[in-house]
Formats: sequence, structure tokens, C-alpha cells
Amino acid sequence: MKTIDDLEKEIKNVDRELSKVESEIAKLKNQQRQLHEKKTALKNSINKIKSDSLASVDWAGKSYEWSEDVKNTLRNVFKLKSFRPNQLSAINCTLSGQHAIVVMPTGAGKSLCYQLPALVKPGITIVCSPLVSLMEDQVRSLTKKDIPAKLITSTSSREESNAALNILKDKNSPIKLLYVTPERFAKSKRFMANLQKCFADGRLQRIAIDEVHCCSQWGHDFRPDYKFLGILSNMFPKIPILGLTATATAHVLTDVQKILNIPGCLVIKSTFNRPNLFYKILEKPTSQEECLNILEKLIKYRYKEESGIVYTHSIKDCEEIAMGLRKRGLKVACYHANLEADTRSKVHTKWHDKHYQAIVATVAFGMGIDKPDVRFVIHHTISKSMENYYQESGRAGRDSNRAECVTLYRLQDVFKVSTMVFSSVGSLDHLYGMVKYCLNGTLCRRQLIAEHFDEDWGNTDCNKMCDVCANPTSKVIEINLELHCRTLASIIDNADKQDTKLTAQKLLDAWFLKGPVNLRHKGKEPNLSRNLGEDVIAYLLVENYLVEDFHFTAYSTISYIKKGPNIDLVQDPEFEIKMPVRKYSSFELDRPAPSEIENNILDLEEKEVPKKRKSHSNDASHSKKTKTIVIDDNDD
Ligand code: ADP
Ligand code: MG
Ligand code: ZN
Repeated sequence: MKTIDDLEKEIKNVDRELSKVESEIAKLKNQQRQLHEKKTALKNSINKIKSDSLASVDWAGKSYEWSEDVKNTLRNVFKLKSFRPNQLSAINCTLSGQHAIVVMPTGAGKSLCYQLPALVKPGITIVCSPLVSLMEDQVRSLTKKDIPAKLITSTSSREESNAALNILKDKNSPIKLLYVTPERFAKSKRFMANLQKCFADGRLQRIAIDEVHCCSQWGHDFRPDYKFLGILSNMFPKIPILGLTATATAHVLTDVQKILNIPGCLVIKSTFNRPNLFYKILEKPTSQEECLNILEKLIKYRYKEESGIVYTHSIKDCEEIAMGLRKRGLKVACYHANLEADTRSKVHTKWHDKHYQAIVATVAFGMGIDKPDVRFVIHHTISKSMENYYQESGRAGRDSNRAECVTLYRLQDVFKVSTMVFSSVGSLDHLYGMVKYCLNGTLCRRQLIAEHFDEDWGNTDCNKMCDVCANPTSKVIEINLELHCRTLASIIDNADKQDTKLTAQKLLDAWFLKGPVNLRHKGKEPNLSRNLGEDVIAYLLVENYLVEDFHFTAYSTISYIKKGPNIDLVQDPEFEIKMPVRKYSSFELDRPAPSEIENNILDLEEKEVPKKRKSHSNDASHSKKTKTIVIDDNDD
């Protein structure tokens, strides 16, 4: 008979075996995950090779059977003289029956890539578009050109919907383009049945999917119903799918191909460089009054009599700023989603006609802006991603003349945006991409934009059209952050022991020996300006040494700062983190902006960060002419 002791010993043995098995399982699981990752990477490589080989064909040729027709339609129906870059390639490719994704910046002319082919071949083109207002604009402008087009929306009357649905069945219907929202594919059985009938009759010419990045969770405005479009390629074999988007990251593009079931399809991609836009980051003051001073000067003097947009973060900001600027005698109006459609449209028109110089808007102002001479876009608060920033700022200078994109940046705004977006997948990474762009003071801003859109920047010249290139410097100043990192970690640990959470502001206070004594850092005040301290915190956040931790109250969401996954690296005595210090270049707020591109004497004077102990120079990672100076100021 075994004693309890014996049995317990046995249990211990079994436990030991179990833990061995569990560790084996963990190892195997890890191996499995790695193999899956490897497989995905290999599949992606195959698709990339397929796409590349399709892309190596010269699609811009003029000797296709439809080439004559295409040329005539462009001139006679669309009344346009010539194609813009890549439009002809996209048109030839989709007319050849290839699935394709067209990536062009906003305003480059993507719509023509499906509108024109629709007219040169028999049958009907279905256009899937995420926004009713976009569809209405397009159908209106097509109708003006006598192109038969219709749309089905949820607000259409029963008769209208029925008529539109019958187009799909009616062999004699003259309609060439039918616009629908993705919900139609996902939720209307009748629509799908009629579409199948249209296909069976050989009348389905192609399916164009506008804003196709909405398929992907990694895109900036994911729409669940877009996922449903994945069935189309199997349901309608040989019917070409043409996706169109201004989102160019490789990640999103492969994801979109996967979801639409067209892996390895041709991707036609245009450059995202807007050579006529000047990019600038300005330090944002802490008070709204000081912000208004800056905006007033810019609009009154730098952009005197020129049209522009001021983007704000919230409806409240939008109204406050518009009011503030009006009090200062400026002709501006506000635009946001809470205004009646009628009011919005009036504001838009008055701005268009130069009755208002600027529109102070939330991002609700965007779709359907077709004003070529926007000379400035000012961001009063950072955008939630580089993609959004590119689109919003890109509304400047559509006429190819010089225009300016100015962003006011301050750490505090990071949390205004993060607490609003954090709950959707990938949104914090997107926001931090924007923060990196703002923190940058050493690389050409165009280069960062190009990198963001996975574009090969090479040696492309910015032509001094960003604040960094316009103000070249012979040296880059870097500071070491290891000790700062340890200090911040100890402040967070100390607060944690007292059951206190720290917002970035409180963390800064404690670091700079301000605020509640029990939270303050016990050592010396850091040898930095408070502004630079803010940059350090932002830098550590985007590099994952610190992370945001979101908490809900009844009225709002608060972002607290916690230690991030990388902070342990700092324990290693060999470890180094260096942050390049931004240069604060002056920018003449009250003198007219240059009107010509070559003429870029912005008179940016150099103002240096307070001098500290200089150590060795290290120029490996910077351009030839630039020296790097590392300031070792970890002496607190
Ligand atoms: P996107 O969808 O890429 O943002 P749109 O298709 O809405 O751009 O086109 C933007 C503007 O460019 C429209 O006013 C359109 O008429 C104009 N456009 C498009 N193609 C051409 C062209 N080849 N020549 C001149 N204007 C064009
Ligand atoms: Mg478009
Ligand atoms: Zn530059």
C-alpha cells in the first residue's frame, strides 16, 4: 500500500514530466509559428515576382485594338487633352482583362481609369465606392458629360432602387456605370442575384473597387463590408477587378490582394512625391491664444489673400479657432460634421469663390474638394496617421504651383489623438508614424513620406522644399538617452509603488522636479529644456521604451505612461540609444511666402539647442556632408 508521501512524490514526478512536455509543446508551437511565417513570406515572394513580371510589360502602348477608341473617348467625351501618368497603363491593363490595383495619390485621376474603359467596351461596369457623397459627385459629373451612369444607395426610394436593379437584368439598358456601396454586395440578395444574371448574360464588363484599402484592417479606414468583396473573383471568373487606392504600403497592398482573392495581380503605382509642396513643422505653443497668434500671422501675412485650410482635431477646437480668427478680422468659416449639409455646402462654395480665405475644419472636410489653388494647409493638431496627413496636406497645390503644408506639433496632442483612436487595430502604430515625422529634424521630410509609401527615394532632390532641406546644417546633434530612460523608469516605478498612474505631463513634471513631491525624481533636474524633454518622451514612446496605457472615466479616456517592452534593454551596460535633436528653425510668419519654387529663400536662421559637453563624432548613418555630434548629458 502506497503512503500519501509516496503518492505526492509521484505527483511531483508527473508534474516534472508535464512541465517537460509543456516546454516541448511551447517549443513546437514556436517552431510552428515560425514555419507559418516563413510560408507566408515565401508565398508573398511568389506573388511579388508575379506582380513584378506583370509590371515589366509596357502597358502604356498605343497599338491595342482599342487604342484609337480610347484616345477618341478621352478627347470627345471626357474633353481632356492627354492622360496623366499611369492612367493609360491602368486602362490598357484592365481592358486586357487583367486584375489590377492602381495606386495613385489623391487627386491624381484614378476615376478615369475605370470610367473611360467602361465606354469603350460593351456591357456594364460596377463601381463599388465607400461613400454616398463620392458616388453622387461622380454620377453628377458623368451625367453632365452625357455618360449614362446610376447609383443605388440606402436612401434611394423603392422605385429608384428597383429601376437601378433592373438595369442589371435589362439587356437594352443604356447604363454603362452602376455605382453601389459595399453593403450592397454584402447584404442585398436581390442585388447579387441580378448581378449574377447580368454576368450570365455576358453583360458584366468589369468591377471597379474604389478606395480598395478599406478591405484591409491595416489601412486607415477599414470597412468590414469590403471583406465580402473577396467572393467576386470566384463568382465572376474572367471578369477583371480593378482596385483603386491612394494607400501604398506593401503591407496593405498584399493584404488587399489576399482579401480580394487576386494574389500576385498587377500593381500600377505612381509616385507620391509632390514637388511643389513645402513641408514644415512648427512648435505648437501650449495655449490656444498663442496658437491663434500664429494662425493669425500666417493667414494675414504669410498667405495674404491666398486660399487655404486649417485642420483641427475636434469640433470644439474647430469652432473656437474659427471664432478666434474671425475676432481678429479674418474671413474664415468653420466646417464640421455637426453642421447641416446645407450650411456645409454654402461654406464650401464661399471658400471656393474666395469669399472666405480659409476654412477651419475637422477632417470631415475633404471629400469632393476640387479647388486647385489651395496655397496652404495648416494642421493645428497632428493627423492620426501619415496616410491621413498626406491626404489632408495634399489638398494644397493641386495646380502645381508652390504651396505650403505647416503642422503645429506638441507632445500633448499625441494623447489627444491616441485616446481617440487607440481601440482600432494598428491605429497607435499609424499615429506614432506621424509622431516620428514630426520629431524628425535631420532627414528630408519628403524622404520620410516616400519611405512611408514604400517608395524608393534614391537621390531624388527635394529642391529645398522642406524645412530640413531648406535649412541644411553641417552637424546633427544627438543626445544619449540611456540614463534618461532609467530615470523615467524609476519615476514610473516609484509612482507605481504609491498606486499612482502618471500621464505624460505628470511624468514630465516629476522628471523636471515639479508637481507632487512624493512623485518627483530624487536626483538632479535633467540637463535639457522642457521642450527637449517632451521630445525625449515622444521618442521613447514611438520606440517602445515607454507605452501608453488607456483608462476610461465616465467622460473621457486617459492615457497614462507605463514602461514599455524595450525598457529592459537599458539594463545592459553596453546598450545605447541616441536621439537626434530637432533644430528649431525660424519661419517668417508675417512675410509673404515665396510664390516660386526655385525662389526658396525662406531666411531660416539657425538657432542651436543649448550647448552641452560634446563627445566623439559619428557620421556613419548620415549623409556625406553631415557630422554627428553626440552630447552626453547623462550626468544627473
Ligand atoms: P482621385 O480619385 O485619384 O483622387 P479623381 O479621379 O477624382 O482623382 O480626379 C481628380 C481630378 O483630376 C478631377 O477633377 C479630374 O477631372 C481630373 N483629371 C483626371 N484625369 C485627368 C487628365 N488626364 N487630365 C486633366 N485632368 C484630369
Ligand atoms: Mg477617387
Ligand atoms: Zn527635403
